[in-house]
Amino acid sequence: MADQNTKILRGRLLTFSSAPQGEEDTQAYSYEEDGALLISNGQIVARSSYKDVAALAPAGTEIVDHRPHLILPGLIDTHIHFPQAEVIASWADQLLDWLNDYTFPAEMKFTDKAHGARIAQEFYDALLSHGTTTSSAYCSSHPNSVDAYFEEAERRSMLMLGGKTMMDRNAPTGACDTAQSSYDDSKALATKWHGRGRAHYVVTPRFAITSTPEQLEAAGCLLTEFPGCHLQTHINENHNEITFTKELYPEAPDYLGVYEKFGLLGPKTLLGHCIHMNERELRVMQETGSIAVFCPTSNLFLGSGLFNKAGLEDAGIRTAIATDVGGGTNYSMLRTLDEGYKVLQMQRQRMHPLTSFYWATLGNADALSLSDKIGTLDVGTDADIVVLNAKATPTMALRMETVETLSGELFVLQTLGDDRAVIETYICGQPSKPGR
Ligand SMILES: [Zn+2]
Repeated sequence: MADQNTKILRGRLLTFSSAPQGEEDTQAYSYEEDGALLISNGQIVARSSYKDVAALAPAGTEIVDHRPHLILPGLIDTHIHFPQAEVIASWADQLLDWLNDYTFPAEMKFTDKAHGARIAQEFYDALLSHGTTTSSAYCSSHPNSVDAYFEEAERRSMLMLGGKTMMDRNAPTGACDTAQSSYDDSKALATKWHGRGRAHYVVTPRFAITSTPEQLEAAGCLLTEFPGCHLQTHINENHNEITFTKELYPEAPDYLGVYEKFGLLGPKTLLGHCIHMNERELRVMQETGSIAVFCPTSNLFLGSGLFNKAGLEDAGIRTAIATDVGGGTNYSMLRTLDEGYKVLQMQRQRMHPLTSFYWATLGNADALSLSDKIGTLDVGTDADIVVLNAKATPTMALRMETVETLSGELFVLQTLGDDRAVIETYICGQPSKPGR
């Protein structure tokens, strides 16, 4: 007997098993023209041709026919700021001005739980509208913001990563904590949330400028006490930021050396930006397995610089891609891939469309060490899924008249697509795109 927790999604399936080198690299991806997923209790339990899946599904199973659209794993955003939903698109000079003029005042409002709850609604609506099913977010320095963030994720059954921003200097008092309170609050929040349902706690010192050595030491202690937790911070985004960091930490060999000293590096460490890296930093990144997170719309918006994907990967460094909203200018991972493509073009690093979609799905899931749960359409993983329409607008439909390959279609989605191209977003098999 079919039950209401079981359904078939029919459509054109695309999922990856490794980073593709091009369309002919068919070992790296699986594409099924008339494919189907059997979903039961929030997980993918079968993936094959529609004919085969229909044959093994219980009689009467609901069939959702998404043909002719593409069915992919839900998109993953590895770096975003939950309290900055109100300051996206704020006219600023560079990083430090933008933080002082817009970001810190906005984050101070999160001392109020009701404000956090309201922004959380808007934040998750925006993610799901754009096909993003998981993100790793900085909350504000107030524990209330972390509760608001995870409570709403729990209500929507979303796999989310996040943590309380730790910052105890060089920001307004109302946006700051202290080394001791940041340790106490982070510990309480990690104890409360990490591993509860689909929540993953992330130790989150904002960056070296806004943390005293005592606070970074506390962050290192938290990582030791919660070895399953990730750590996220920023590095080498902006030249003024780097100069200021060197003044604050004159004994460190370089910016990465600050984080290295306090034991903050490792395979679950997400380092936002990584634009202006020296040779020693590249070596330490590789040795520790730390992840360089590319935030193209943010890097262009704040005039920060160009992320050197090939240089980092040639040095053996793991990479991820992210929006960095509100320094980033769009929630859409499609728009992010498009801007990322252009940043790489500026450096003569032309990214193949299959590589783009690998990066926003399995690539980012691997960077988060979560590819056993999300980022593919593999059997046994959680049914977080996006359905995309490459003919969503008249401009896209006209362009698609002459597109003959899957890669061409993906490139249209990446270059012209946004939330209008998202037909549906599934969380644990449940349709979750707002407004439907
Ligand atoms: Zn950021």
